[in-house]
Amino acid sequence: MQERDEIDIRPDFPLLEESIYLDAASTTPTPKAVVEAMCDYFYNYNVNTGRGAYKLAVKATNEFEKARSRISKFINAKPTEIFFTKNTTEAVNLVARGLPFKKGDSIVLPNIEHHSNFLPWLRLKEKGVDVRIVKADEYGIVHPEDIEAAVDKTTKLITTTHVSNAIGSVQPIHELGKIASENEVLFMVDAAQSAGHMKLDVRDIGADFVSFPGHKGLLGPVGTGFLYCKDEHAEELEPLNLGGGTVLDVKEGSFELEAVPARFEGGTQNIAGVIGLGAAVKYLEKIGLDRIERHSRKLTDMMYEGVSSMDNTTVYGSPENIYGIVAFNIDGVNAHDVAKILDELKNICVRSGHHCAIPAIRHLGAYELGGSVRASVHYYNTEEEIQTFIESLEEISKFLG
Ligand code: PLP
Repeated sequence: MQERDEIDIRPDFPLLEESIYLDAASTTPTPKAVVEAMCDYFYNYNVNTGRGAYKLAVKATNEFEKARSRISKFINAKPTEIFFTKNTTEAVNLVARGLPFKKGDSIVLPNIEHHSNFLPWLRLKEKGVDVRIVKADEYGIVHPEDIEAAVDKTTKLITTTHVSNAIGSVQPIHELGKIASENEVLFMVDAAQSAGHMKLDVRDIGADFVSFPGHKGLLGPVGTGFLYCKDEHAEELEPLNLGGGTVLDVKEGSFELEAVPARFEGGTQNIAGVIGLGAAVKYLEKIGLDRIERHSRKLTDMMYEGVSSMDNTTVYGSPENIYGIVAFNIDGVNAHDVAKILDELKNICVRSGHHCAIPAIRHLGAYELGGSVRASVHYYNTEEEIQTFIESLEEISKFLG
Protein backbone atom coordinates (compact mmCIF):
# COMPACT_ATOMS: atom_id res chain seq x y z
CA MET A 1 0.00 0.00 0.00
CA GLN A 2 1.41 3.39 -0.95
CA GLU A 3 1.76 6.15 1.53
CA ARG A 4 -1.35 8.30 1.60
CA ASP A 5 -0.28 11.35 3.53
CA GLU A 6 0.12 9.19 6.69
CA ILE A 7 -3.26 7.64 7.48
CA ASP A 8 -4.23 4.30 5.96
CA ILE A 9 -7.99 4.00 6.17
CA ARG A 10 -8.38 1.15 3.68
CA PRO A 11 -9.16 -1.52 6.30
CA ASP A 12 -12.19 0.55 7.26
CA PHE A 13 -13.80 -0.07 3.84
CA PRO A 14 -14.32 -3.78 3.04
CA LEU A 15 -16.07 -2.80 -0.21
CA LEU A 16 -12.77 -1.53 -1.59
CA GLU A 17 -11.08 -4.94 -1.37
CA GLU A 18 -12.60 -6.23 -4.60
CA SER A 19 -13.08 -3.13 -6.76
CA ILE A 20 -11.45 0.11 -7.69
CA TYR A 21 -14.28 2.38 -6.70
CA LEU A 22 -14.23 5.71 -8.55
CA ASP A 23 -17.82 6.82 -8.04
CA ALA A 24 -17.68 8.93 -4.86
CA ALA A 25 -19.74 11.60 -6.61
CA SER A 26 -22.67 9.21 -6.61
CA THR A 27 -22.30 7.73 -3.14
CA THR A 28 -19.39 6.58 -0.99
CA PRO A 29 -18.77 3.28 0.77
CA THR A 30 -19.51 3.40 4.47
CA PRO A 31 -16.59 3.07 6.88
CA LYS A 32 -16.77 0.49 9.68
CA ALA A 33 -16.97 3.15 12.41
CA VAL A 34 -20.22 4.40 10.87
CA VAL A 35 -21.71 0.92 10.50
CA GLU A 36 -20.72 0.13 14.10
CA ALA A 37 -22.40 3.28 15.43
CA MET A 38 -25.56 2.25 13.59
CA CYS A 39 -25.32 -1.35 14.84
CA ASP A 40 -24.97 -0.05 18.39
CA TYR A 41 -28.26 1.81 17.91
CA PHE A 42 -30.01 -1.19 16.33
CA TYR A 43 -28.79 -3.67 18.94
CA ASN A 44 -28.94 -1.57 22.07
CA TYR A 45 -31.37 1.34 21.91
CA ASN A 46 -33.49 1.03 18.77
CA VAL A 47 -36.40 3.15 20.02
CA ASN A 48 -37.95 6.39 18.84
CA THR A 49 -36.57 9.85 19.57
CA GLY A 50 -38.23 12.91 21.09
CA ARG A 51 -41.18 10.98 22.42
CA GLY A 52 -40.62 8.64 25.35
CA ALA A 53 -39.72 9.42 28.95
CA TYR A 54 -38.07 6.03 29.59
CA LYS A 55 -34.29 5.69 29.72
CA LEU A 56 -33.84 4.07 26.30
CA ALA A 57 -35.87 6.81 24.62
CA VAL A 58 -33.81 9.47 26.36
CA LYS A 59 -30.61 7.76 25.23
CA ALA A 60 -31.81 7.59 21.58
CA THR A 61 -32.84 11.27 21.66
CA ASN A 62 -29.52 12.29 23.19
CA GLU A 63 -27.48 10.38 20.59
CA PHE A 64 -29.59 11.83 17.75
CA GLU A 65 -29.09 15.36 19.07
CA LYS A 66 -25.39 14.74 19.71
CA ALA A 67 -25.07 13.92 16.00
CA ARG A 68 -26.88 17.16 15.10
CA SER A 69 -24.53 19.09 17.35
CA ARG A 70 -21.40 17.54 15.88
CA ILE A 71 -22.61 18.07 12.31
CA SER A 72 -23.51 21.70 12.99
CA LYS A 73 -20.06 22.45 14.44
CA PHE A 74 -18.45 20.79 11.43
CA ILE A 75 -19.97 23.43 9.10
CA ASN A 76 -19.92 26.32 11.61
CA ALA A 77 -23.69 26.35 12.12
CA LYS A 78 -25.90 26.16 15.20
CA PRO A 79 -27.66 22.86 15.97
CA THR A 80 -31.04 24.57 15.42
CA GLU A 81 -29.95 25.46 11.88
CA ILE A 82 -29.72 21.78 10.83
CA PHE A 83 -32.87 20.07 9.52
CA PHE A 84 -32.41 16.40 8.70
CA THR A 85 -33.71 15.16 5.35
CA LYS A 86 -33.40 11.91 3.45
CA ASN A 87 -30.99 13.37 0.86
CA THR A 88 -29.84 16.57 -0.85
CA THR A 89 -32.87 16.59 -3.13
CA GLU A 90 -35.29 16.82 -0.22
CA ALA A 91 -33.29 19.69 1.29
CA VAL A 92 -33.55 21.69 -1.96
CA ASN A 93 -37.26 20.96 -2.27
CA LEU A 94 -37.81 22.07 1.30
CA VAL A 95 -36.55 25.55 0.39
CA ALA A 96 -38.09 25.77 -3.09
CA ARG A 97 -41.50 24.72 -1.76
CA GLY A 98 -41.23 26.32 1.65
CA LEU A 99 -40.28 29.92 0.86
CA PRO A 100 -43.17 32.26 0.02
CA PHE A 101 -42.31 32.84 -3.67
CA LYS A 102 -45.00 34.63 -5.64
CA LYS A 103 -45.81 35.74 -9.17
CA GLY A 104 -43.39 38.40 -10.35
CA ASP A 105 -40.47 37.17 -8.21
CA SER A 106 -37.36 35.97 -9.99
CA ILE A 107 -34.60 33.52 -9.06
CA VAL A 108 -31.20 33.07 -10.70
CA LEU A 109 -29.25 29.85 -11.23
CA PRO A 110 -26.61 28.41 -13.60
CA ASN A 111 -27.50 26.18 -16.55
CA ILE A 112 -25.33 23.25 -15.42
CA GLU A 113 -27.06 22.31 -12.18
CA HIS A 114 -27.85 18.76 -11.11
CA HIS A 115 -31.57 18.08 -11.66
CA SER A 116 -32.03 18.16 -7.89
CA ASN A 117 -31.00 21.80 -7.79
CA PHE A 118 -32.83 22.56 -11.03
CA LEU A 119 -36.27 20.97 -11.20
CA PRO A 120 -37.48 22.22 -7.79
CA TRP A 121 -36.75 25.77 -9.02
CA LEU A 122 -38.17 25.22 -12.51
CA ARG A 123 -41.42 24.13 -10.88
CA LEU A 124 -41.75 27.64 -9.45
CA LYS A 125 -42.66 28.80 -12.96
CA GLU A 126 -46.10 27.36 -12.19
CA LYS A 127 -46.45 30.11 -9.57
CA GLY A 128 -45.39 32.80 -12.04
CA VAL A 129 -41.81 33.01 -10.81
CA ASP A 130 -39.28 34.06 -13.46
CA VAL A 131 -36.53 31.42 -13.41
CA ARG A 132 -33.41 33.01 -14.91
CA ILE A 133 -30.86 30.50 -16.15
CA VAL A 134 -27.32 31.79 -16.58
CA LYS A 135 -24.92 30.09 -18.96
CA ALA A 136 -21.62 28.79 -17.60
CA ASP A 137 -18.47 29.02 -19.73
CA GLU A 138 -17.09 26.15 -21.80
CA TYR A 139 -15.29 24.76 -18.71
CA GLY A 140 -18.44 24.73 -16.63
CA ILE A 141 -17.53 27.79 -14.58
CA VAL A 142 -20.19 30.32 -13.74
CA HIS A 143 -18.97 33.91 -13.93
CA PRO A 144 -20.10 36.20 -11.10
CA GLU A 145 -20.67 39.13 -13.48
CA ASP A 146 -23.12 37.02 -15.50
CA ILE A 147 -25.03 36.11 -12.36
CA GLU A 148 -25.04 39.73 -11.23
CA ALA A 149 -26.37 40.86 -14.62
CA ALA A 150 -29.38 38.58 -14.17
CA VAL A 151 -30.25 40.01 -10.75
CA ASP A 152 -32.72 42.88 -10.41
CA LYS A 153 -35.27 44.20 -7.93
CA THR A 154 -37.55 41.20 -8.46
CA THR A 155 -34.83 38.66 -7.57
CA LYS A 156 -35.41 36.74 -4.38
CA LEU A 157 -32.74 34.05 -4.53
CA ILE A 158 -29.52 32.99 -6.24
CA THR A 159 -28.57 29.34 -6.12
CA THR A 160 -25.66 27.32 -7.44
CA THR A 161 -23.96 24.05 -6.88
CA HIS A 162 -20.54 24.38 -5.21
CA VAL A 163 -18.84 21.71 -7.33
CA SER A 164 -20.53 20.54 -10.52
CA ASN A 165 -21.25 16.82 -10.41
CA ALA A 166 -21.10 16.57 -14.22
CA ILE A 167 -17.86 18.50 -14.77
CA GLY A 168 -16.10 18.84 -11.43
CA SER A 169 -15.86 22.61 -11.88
CA VAL A 170 -15.65 24.56 -8.62
CA GLN A 171 -17.88 27.62 -8.62
CA PRO A 172 -16.84 30.99 -7.17
CA ILE A 173 -19.29 30.72 -4.29
CA HIS A 174 -17.69 33.42 -2.14
CA GLU A 175 -18.13 35.97 -4.93
CA LEU A 176 -21.67 34.76 -5.61
CA GLY A 177 -22.48 35.01 -1.89
CA LYS A 178 -21.19 38.58 -1.93
CA ILE A 179 -23.38 39.48 -4.91
CA ALA A 180 -26.39 37.99 -3.14
CA SER A 181 -25.71 39.90 0.02
CA GLU A 182 -25.05 43.23 -1.76
CA ASN A 183 -28.35 42.84 -3.61
CA GLU A 184 -30.22 41.64 -0.50
CA VAL A 185 -31.06 38.39 -2.22
CA LEU A 186 -31.09 34.94 -0.56
CA PHE A 187 -28.19 32.65 -1.43
CA MET A 188 -28.50 28.86 -1.54
CA VAL A 189 -25.61 26.49 -2.21
CA ASP A 190 -25.86 22.85 -3.22
CA ALA A 191 -22.91 21.29 -1.42
CA ALA A 192 -23.54 17.75 -2.68
CA GLN A 193 -20.08 17.47 -4.24
CA SER A 194 -18.04 19.55 -1.81
CA ALA A 195 -19.19 18.55 1.68
CA GLY A 196 -16.64 16.23 3.25
CA HIS A 197 -14.21 16.83 0.40
CA MET A 198 -13.12 20.30 1.51
CA LYS A 199 -13.64 22.67 4.43
CA LEU A 200 -17.04 24.24 4.26
CA ASP A 201 -18.03 27.07 6.58
CA VAL A 202 -21.59 28.15 5.90
CA ARG A 203 -21.03 31.57 7.48
CA ASP A 204 -17.84 32.20 5.56
CA ILE A 205 -19.55 31.57 2.21
CA GLY A 206 -22.43 33.85 3.16
CA ALA A 207 -25.09 31.22 2.48
CA ASP A 208 -28.65 31.44 3.73
CA PHE A 209 -29.35 27.82 2.83
CA VAL A 210 -27.07 24.90 2.00
CA SER A 211 -28.22 21.44 0.94
CA PHE A 212 -26.11 18.49 2.06
CA PRO A 213 -26.04 14.76 1.32
CA GLY A 214 -24.93 12.50 4.14
CA HIS A 215 -24.02 9.67 1.81
CA LYS A 216 -21.38 11.22 -0.44
CA GLY A 217 -18.29 13.11 0.73
CA LEU A 218 -19.37 13.01 4.37
CA LEU A 219 -19.09 9.17 4.29
CA GLY A 220 -22.41 8.75 6.08
CA PRO A 221 -25.06 6.15 5.26
CA VAL A 222 -27.47 6.32 2.32
CA GLY A 223 -30.83 7.84 3.19
CA THR A 224 -29.29 10.78 5.03
CA GLY A 225 -28.91 14.45 4.23
CA PHE A 226 -29.74 17.79 5.75
CA LEU A 227 -30.50 21.41 5.12
CA TYR A 228 -28.57 24.24 6.72
CA CYS A 229 -31.06 27.09 7.17
CA LYS A 230 -29.69 30.33 8.63
CA ASP A 231 -31.72 30.88 11.79
CA GLU A 232 -33.26 34.17 10.68
CA HIS A 233 -35.03 32.43 7.77
CA ALA A 234 -36.59 29.51 9.64
CA GLU A 235 -39.81 31.36 10.52
CA GLU A 236 -40.66 32.18 6.89
CA LEU A 237 -40.00 28.61 5.72
CA GLU A 238 -43.01 26.27 5.53
CA PRO A 239 -42.29 22.68 6.62
CA LEU A 240 -42.61 20.06 3.88
CA ASN A 241 -44.21 17.46 6.14
CA LEU A 242 -46.59 18.19 8.96
CA GLY A 243 -47.54 15.51 11.46
CA GLY A 244 -46.07 13.76 14.48
CA GLY A 245 -43.31 15.73 16.17
CA THR A 246 -43.99 19.02 14.36
CA VAL A 247 -46.60 20.65 16.62
CA LEU A 248 -46.80 22.07 20.13
CA ASP A 249 -50.56 22.12 20.33
CA VAL A 250 -53.51 21.01 18.25
CA LYS A 251 -57.01 22.33 18.84
CA GLU A 252 -60.11 21.71 16.85
CA GLY A 253 -59.33 23.15 13.45
CA SER A 254 -55.93 24.68 14.24
CA PHE A 255 -52.43 23.85 15.38
CA GLU A 256 -49.34 25.57 16.70
CA LEU A 257 -46.00 24.58 15.19
CA GLU A 258 -43.14 23.22 17.29
CA ALA A 259 -39.92 25.20 17.64
CA VAL A 260 -37.15 24.85 15.05
CA PRO A 261 -35.80 22.34 14.00
CA ALA A 262 -38.52 19.90 15.20
CA ARG A 263 -41.20 21.49 13.00
CA PHE A 264 -39.17 20.52 9.92
CA GLU A 265 -38.70 16.88 10.91
CA GLY A 266 -42.17 15.37 10.69
CA GLY A 267 -42.63 11.73 11.64
CA THR A 268 -40.07 9.18 12.77
CA GLN A 269 -36.64 10.12 11.48
CA ASN A 270 -33.85 7.99 10.05
CA ILE A 271 -32.45 7.73 13.57
CA ALA A 272 -29.79 5.12 12.84
CA GLY A 273 -28.77 7.05 9.74
CA VAL A 274 -28.36 10.34 11.58
CA ILE A 275 -26.37 8.65 14.35
CA GLY A 276 -24.23 7.06 11.62
CA LEU A 277 -23.78 10.45 9.99
CA GLY A 278 -22.60 11.88 13.30
CA ALA A 279 -20.04 9.06 13.50
CA ALA A 280 -18.99 9.78 9.90
CA VAL A 281 -18.29 13.42 10.71
CA LYS A 282 -16.23 12.31 13.70
CA TYR A 283 -14.32 9.99 11.38
CA LEU A 284 -13.64 12.80 8.88
CA GLU A 285 -12.48 15.08 11.68
CA LYS A 286 -9.97 12.42 12.70
CA ILE A 287 -8.51 12.28 9.20
CA GLY A 288 -8.66 16.07 8.80
CA LEU A 289 -10.17 17.96 5.90
CA ASP A 290 -6.84 19.55 4.91
CA ARG A 291 -5.36 16.10 4.47
CA ILE A 292 -8.41 14.90 2.53
CA GLU A 293 -8.29 17.88 0.21
CA ARG A 294 -4.54 17.55 -0.43
CA HIS A 295 -4.90 13.91 -1.33
CA SER A 296 -7.98 14.35 -3.51
CA ARG A 297 -6.38 17.24 -5.39
CA LYS A 298 -3.39 15.06 -6.15
CA LEU A 299 -5.61 12.24 -7.42
CA THR A 300 -7.73 14.67 -9.47
CA ASP A 301 -4.60 16.09 -11.13
CA MET A 302 -3.32 12.58 -11.85
CA MET A 303 -6.62 11.58 -13.45
CA TYR A 304 -6.92 14.75 -15.51
CA GLU A 305 -3.34 14.52 -16.74
CA GLY A 306 -3.59 10.81 -17.50
CA VAL A 307 -6.88 10.99 -19.37
CA SER A 308 -6.11 14.18 -21.27
CA SER A 309 -2.75 12.83 -22.44
CA MET A 310 -4.54 10.09 -24.45
CA ASP A 311 -4.91 10.83 -28.14
CA ASN A 312 -8.56 10.14 -28.67
CA THR A 313 -10.26 11.44 -25.53
CA THR A 314 -12.13 14.63 -24.72
CA VAL A 315 -11.88 15.75 -21.11
CA TYR A 316 -14.33 18.30 -19.74
CA GLY A 317 -13.56 21.16 -17.39
CA SER A 318 -10.34 23.03 -16.88
CA PRO A 319 -7.45 21.38 -14.98
CA GLU A 320 -6.97 24.45 -12.74
CA ASN A 321 -10.56 24.48 -11.67
CA ILE A 322 -11.89 20.94 -11.26
CA TYR A 323 -11.85 19.01 -7.99
CA GLY A 324 -12.57 15.38 -7.17
CA ILE A 325 -14.19 14.60 -10.51
CA VAL A 326 -12.88 14.00 -14.02
CA ALA A 327 -15.46 13.66 -16.79
CA PHE A 328 -14.50 12.58 -20.29
CA ASN A 329 -15.37 10.65 -23.41
CA ILE A 330 -13.36 8.40 -25.67
CA ASP A 331 -14.07 9.98 -29.04
CA GLY A 332 -16.86 8.22 -30.87
CA VAL A 333 -17.48 5.63 -28.14
CA ASN A 334 -20.65 5.50 -26.07
CA ALA A 335 -19.98 6.44 -22.43
CA HIS A 336 -21.86 3.40 -21.07
CA ASP A 337 -19.73 1.03 -23.18
CA VAL A 338 -16.55 2.46 -21.66
CA ALA A 339 -17.91 2.13 -18.12
CA LYS A 340 -19.13 -1.39 -18.78
CA ILE A 341 -15.78 -2.54 -20.14
CA LEU A 342 -13.88 -0.93 -17.25
CA ASP A 343 -16.11 -2.85 -14.88
CA GLU A 344 -16.19 -6.20 -16.69
CA LEU A 345 -12.50 -6.41 -17.48
CA LYS A 346 -10.85 -4.42 -14.72
CA ASN A 347 -13.30 -4.21 -11.83
CA ILE A 348 -13.24 -0.44 -11.99
CA CYS A 349 -16.45 1.36 -11.04
CA VAL A 350 -17.05 4.65 -12.82
CA ARG A 351 -20.32 6.39 -13.61
CA SER A 352 -21.55 6.92 -17.15
CA GLY A 353 -24.50 8.77 -18.63
CA HIS A 354 -25.95 12.19 -18.00
CA HIS A 355 -25.34 12.12 -14.23
CA CYS A 356 -28.80 13.61 -13.53
CA ALA A 357 -27.60 16.83 -15.14
CA ILE A 358 -28.92 16.73 -18.71
CA PRO A 359 -28.57 20.51 -19.23
CA ALA A 360 -24.89 20.28 -18.22
CA ILE A 361 -24.31 17.38 -20.61
CA ARG A 362 -25.99 19.34 -23.42
CA HIS A 363 -23.83 22.33 -22.48
CA LEU A 364 -20.75 20.16 -23.01
CA GLY A 365 -22.08 18.85 -26.32
CA ALA A 366 -21.99 15.30 -24.97
CA TYR A 367 -25.67 14.42 -25.11
CA GLU A 368 -25.44 12.42 -28.34
CA LEU A 369 -22.53 10.39 -26.93
CA GLY A 370 -24.78 9.08 -24.18
CA GLY A 371 -23.37 11.63 -21.74
CA SER A 372 -19.89 11.20 -20.35
CA VAL A 373 -17.77 8.84 -18.30
CA ARG A 374 -17.12 10.20 -14.82
CA ALA A 375 -14.41 9.12 -12.39
CA SER A 376 -14.59 10.60 -8.90
CA VAL A 377 -12.47 10.10 -5.80
CA HIS A 378 -12.29 10.42 -2.05
CA TYR A 379 -9.56 10.00 0.53
CA TYR A 380 -9.86 6.21 0.48
CA ASN A 381 -8.62 6.04 -3.14
CA THR A 382 -4.92 5.48 -3.76
CA GLU A 383 -2.47 6.70 -6.38
CA GLU A 384 -2.00 3.07 -7.46
CA GLU A 385 -5.70 2.81 -8.18
CA ILE A 386 -5.61 5.92 -10.30
CA GLN A 387 -2.59 4.57 -12.15
CA THR A 388 -4.42 1.30 -12.85
CA PHE A 389 -7.47 3.25 -14.02
CA ILE A 390 -5.40 5.32 -16.45
CA GLU A 391 -3.56 2.29 -17.82
CA SER A 392 -6.84 0.40 -18.25
CA LEU A 393 -8.46 3.32 -20.00
CA GLU A 394 -5.49 3.66 -22.31
CA GLU A 395 -5.84 0.00 -23.27
CA ILE A 396 -9.56 0.39 -23.90
CA SER A 397 -9.19 3.59 -25.88
CA LYS A 398 -6.54 2.04 -28.13
CA PHE A 399 -8.80 -0.93 -28.70
CA LEU A 400 -12.04 1.03 -29.27
CA GLY A 401 -10.95 4.46 -30.38
N1 PLP B 1 -26.76 17.98 -6.30
C1 PLP B 1 -25.63 17.50 -6.83
C2 PLP B 1 -24.59 18.45 -7.32
C3 PLP B 1 -25.40 16.12 -6.87
O1 PLP B 1 -24.28 15.64 -7.38
C4 PLP B 1 -26.41 15.25 -6.39
C5 PLP B 1 -26.24 13.78 -6.48
O2 PLP B 1 -25.45 13.28 -7.23
C6 PLP B 1 -27.57 15.80 -5.87
C7 PLP B 1 -27.72 17.16 -5.83
C8 PLP B 1 -28.68 14.93 -5.34
O3 PLP B 1 -28.22 14.29 -4.20
P1 PLP B 1 -29.10 13.25 -3.40
O4 PLP B 1 -29.02 11.98 -4.14
O5 PLP B 1 -28.46 13.21 -2.05
O6 PLP B 1 -30.47 13.79 -3.34
